[in-house]
Amino acid sequence: MLLGLTIIFGSCRGVSDQQEKSLPKLILVTLDGYRWQELFHGVDSVLINSEFNSEKDQLTSNFWTNDPAERTRKLNPFFYEIVQEQGVLIGNRNENSLMDCRNKLWFSYPGYNEILTGRADDERIQSNDKEPNPNITFLETLNQSEDYRGKVAAFCSWDVFPFIINEERSSVYVSAGFDSAGFQDITRNEGLLNRIQSQTSGPWGTVRLDVFTHNFALEYMKQRKPAVVYIAYGETDDFAHDGDYDHYIRSAKLTNTFLTEIWEMVQTDEYYRDQTTMIITTDHGRGTVPIETWRGHGGSVEGAGEIFLAAIGPGIKSSGLIEGQFYQDQVAATSMKLLGYDWENGDPILEILR
Ligand SMILES: [Zn+2]
Repeated sequence: MLLGLTIIFGSCRGVSDQQEKSLPKLILVTLDGYRWQELFHGVDSVLINSEFNSEKDQLTSNFWTNDPAERTRKLNPFFYEIVQEQGVLIGNRNENSLMDCRNKLWFSYPGYNEILTGRADDERIQSNDKEPNPNITFLETLNQSEDYRGKVAAFCSWDVFPFIINEERSSVYVSAGFDSAGFQDITRNEGLLNRIQSQTSGPWGTVRLDVFTHNFALEYMKQRKPAVVYIAYGETDDFAHDGDYDHYIRSAKLTNTFLTEIWEMVQTDEYYRDQTTMIITTDHGRGTVPIETWRGHGGSVEGAGEIFLAAIGPGIKSSGLIEGQFYQDQVAATSMKLLGYDWENGDPILEILR
């Protein structure tokens, strides 16, 4: 595949502290299989009353109200109290804001490949198997660039990410699955996280609970200051596959807490403050009708190619919802544009950039 990299500014130089601080930073976040329906409308009136919700009273009292805007805010406070006010949102199909996968497979590896490389590859990426990605992600290119070398890190709940990012070839630091922090200068918090993670019996064999992914990422950012961070939360997809709507919803709310925590840390940290853009999207959607297709996704599930995007930061407009048709293969070029680079695959979403 053709990869073009044009350095618009700041090539060939020694990196002083001042230049380090002014280097644009990026945090890309994915919420595996989280539906735009819940992001833009809150809890689903059918699912909350269905067999898939075993805690109807609790979910109803915490997340339901007849006012659609209030219902959306209850579940997604980060997106509605922070991003809608200061950034952009894409994917509310009822308001003529649409975003879709270009790939036709509508499951995880093809979606993450499309997000991170800017090009759907339905020929070669056809399974979730642990096969090293033949395509080059923008994370890999940045990690081998002059400005961002060694400053790219990924924290992922699913244990296939070392292959999607091709950790071996790219040298991007990837903490995924049940990886513990193994640095020589390990912090007390990392030591504690390692211990608690090893003593936790989570629900799944290939996906860790997001609380570990999140806290490993947060601690790494505070201590080691990566300029480009990718965080891939995974719980929403797995709880949905389990047919567990109450945990799917509680996990979505928890992810909002995580995102708020990251954004607050960014605003108070001298290295990240006013230099950092955050982009949040998803690998695929899920079904809607018939209602049980909510559990799954894939090429045969209607609507599973429908996704969303949110962004906030110095390079992003404060426009709230953006109308139009957008695609998953634009995420890489948009991310690179924010850092001052052109990326040949996919077009940046210029409508959201300042
Ligand atoms: Zn899935």
